[in-house]
Amino acid sequence: MEEAKEKMDVAIIGAGAAGLAAAIYAGRSGLSPVVFESKMVGGQTSLSPSIENYPGFKSISGSDLMTAFKNHAENYADIKEWAPVTKVVRQGNDFLLDAKGGPYLAKKIILATGAVHRKLNVPGEEELSGKGVSYCATCDGFFFKDRKILVIGGGNTALAEAAYLLDTGVKEASLAHRRDKLRGEKFLEDIFKKKGGKVLWNTVATSFNGEDRLSSVTLKNVDDGTESTMEVDGVFVAVGITPSNELAQSLGVNMDDGGYIIVDLEQRTNVPGVYAVGDNSVGLRQVVTGAGAGAVAAISAHSDITKQEWEQ
Ligand code: NAP
Repeated sequence: MEEAKEKMDVAIIGAGAAGLAAAIYAGRSGLSPVVFESKMVGGQTSLSPSIENYPGFKSISGSDLMTAFKNHAENYADIKEWAPVTKVVRQGNDFLLDAKGGPYLAKKIILATGAVHRKLNVPGEEELSGKGVSYCATCDGFFFKDRKILVIGGGNTALAEAAYLLDTGVKEASLAHRRDKLRGEKFLEDIFKKKGGKVLWNTVATSFNGEDRLSSVTLKNVDDGTESTMEVDGVFVAVGITPSNELAQSLGVNMDDGGYIIVDLEQRTNVPGVYAVGDNSVGLRQVVTGAGAGAVAAISAHSDITKQEWEQ
């Protein structure tokens, strides 16, 4: 890497709820934070049609809440969108980051990298990905106006994506879930059903079919083993998340068996100067806890920088 073009106290990697809250707390404590986001700000939260458990709001859309977070964080931090951090290496007490416009030098790193969509790993999934098989309703929903779609999964993401797709004007939206009870919250289930969505219970997808584009899905009823073919224009896979931990791995950060970053009560990882917050780390994965973790990590970074400078 070449010499750093910009220096900062804290590099926050990821601009979801956790990263943006960290930016607010870091800036307000007198540090100079820079937030690097590989896409647009908002993270997973911005996909939710309604959030009803963030204190202070009886109901707010995820994108409205994240826009408010962004507007607030911009008062305290430089937020760089479409700026993925591709590499972080230690340089003395600091860290050198490779990202668009860089390299950058940071005293501390807050990993707020979130999580990515888990795959089903069934035949046809990889080949038809982007050709009718999708993992993101807000990214691809537009292409399925007046079409028939199937969402796979039974958690909050599946329900939120299915409800979002019904809003974008799909002709028909069903949700296939492998059990007879949804994991997602009741209010999201109610929103989905109120918009006309149907649930196929005890159902898994065993293959995605089509030549150049998806034309059907093979479904299996897990109770009686019967198989059926459902003609669909699009499938949205929403079967959970896998933590985005590549940068953490490269820094030698410890993780649990599921790949979630292990942090202490002050969001410190085992690597001095590296903190982790939000969906990439152990704990409850909610907006309120992500934001709380962001605040804690920023204060820890401030305290560690102050101590370090006092000792020098
Ligand atoms: P999740 O809660 O882990 O749910 C994943 C769903 O996929 C589960 O219903 C699971 O079935 C199913 N599944 C997993 N592997 C499968 C497979 N191989 N085949 C078929 N189905 C499979 O994941 P998520 O919905 O992505 O949510 C992730 C986190 O974000 C959660 O903490 C969630 O609360 C949060 N979130 C919150 C909101 C909100 O608006 N409040 C919105 C989105 C996400 P089982 O139920 O049988 O395990």
